[in-house]
Amino acid sequence: MVAVLQLREQHAGCLPCPYCGCELVGASPDWWRCSAERCAYELTTAAHALYGALSEALEKDPDGFFESVRTYRDEVRALEPAWQKQEARA
Ligand SMILES: [Zn+2]
Repeated sequence: MVAVLQLREQHAGCLPCPYCGCELVGASPDWWRCSAERCAYELTTAAHALYGALSEALEKDPDGFFESVRTYRDEVRALEPAWQKQEARA
């Protein structure tokens, strides 16, 4: 994670490829890809936006970011599995 943060500073505003650290570039309205010739990393525009939002949240407040991740994890773990809900109705 520290490496990702350092790479972000180097590229000032551009998101680095999570795989190799080179700059991500828009390949089409729907896709982003890594600018490195040997790297095949691609992601959708929605995933790129999520990646950017999460990276920004982590940089702004690392403790708050991980607290929100733990909260979300606990909410998901507390959910009743769908197959158990169906058994209860039957
Ligand atoms: Zn790459």
